[in-house]
Amino acid sequence: MRLHNQVALITGAGRGIGRAIAEHYAREGARVAVADLTLNSARDTVDAIEQAGGTAMALAMDVTNEQAVDQGVAAIVERWGQLDIALANAGIQHIDPVHKLAFSDWSKVMSVHLDGAFLVTRAALRQMYEQDGGTMLYMGSVHSVEASPLKAPYVAAKHGMLGLCRAVAKEGAEHGVRSNIICPGFVRTPLVDKQIPEQAKELGISEEDVISKVMLKNTVDGQFTTLEDVSELAVHLAAFPSAALTGQSIVVSHGWHMQ
Ligand code: NAD
Repeated sequence: MRLHNQVALITGAGRGIGRAIAEHYAREGARVAVADLTLNSARDTVDAIEQAGGTAMALAMDVTNEQAVDQGVAAIVERWGQLDIALANAGIQHIDPVHKLAFSDWSKVMSVHLDGAFLVTRAALRQMYEQDGGTMLYMGSVHSVEASPLKAPYVAAKHGMLGLCRAVAKEGAEHGVRSNIICPGFVRTPLVDKQIPEQAKELGISEEDVISKVMLKNTVDGQFTTLEDVSELAVHLAAFPSAALTGQSIVVSHGWHMQ
């Protein structure tokens, strides 16, 4: 098992990509703190992990709430005595062209991704520096390195997370902390399913065309990236044995973006 004896925190892990990674980490031997907006949604994932024989705890943690994040990390350390992997995964999407975008929608997207990633990073690093090591991970996107129309706040926030990841790689090195960012293409989760009809309406095309002519147009094979693809990369990055791999963005997108 590649994550034996490790303790991991994953935000937004009640469903979607975060849940898939939480379950994969548990199968690899990690004890997983599953954080989401409500305790109930986090508990669904914890139940699934426990039914499969793994170890997990549920945390109600709005990542934009400083106190909730600090208290959540404190609860993990109190329960398990360490924090080895922290993945800032919680995220939202908003579809609108810039000229129609409400400031409140811009701020909300920026806050969940960027304030959330900062607060989780700060709380995790305080523990990781004390124990002389750990791994920070960020759920970026192809939109950390590419732009698309109608998604300005998401694109700006995901680019910002890439910057935070790199800054943490520089600062964390002397404390044994590595920092990397996962950049998936489109994965069929509630976040993506919600935006297909929204984009169809905004662009005046069918939902099938949103999938084939917008989302998957630039992939090499017209395929969605899967939850398994992303969770396998998340295990690999967490388990990597040295600081040779730090400050990196790894794109997993069927060739949509090549770097
Ligand atoms: P999802 O909507 O299925 O899950 C997101 C989770 O984040 C939900 O459980 C939600 O409750 C939680 N969340 C939202 N706001 C939160 C907050 N303030 N505090 C704590 N939790 C919060 O979405 P997903 O597709 O699984 O996305 C997960 C991450 O992956 C996001 O950062 C997203 O930007 C990124 N991503 C997704 C795709 C994709 O195609 N699905 C591609 C690239 C990157």
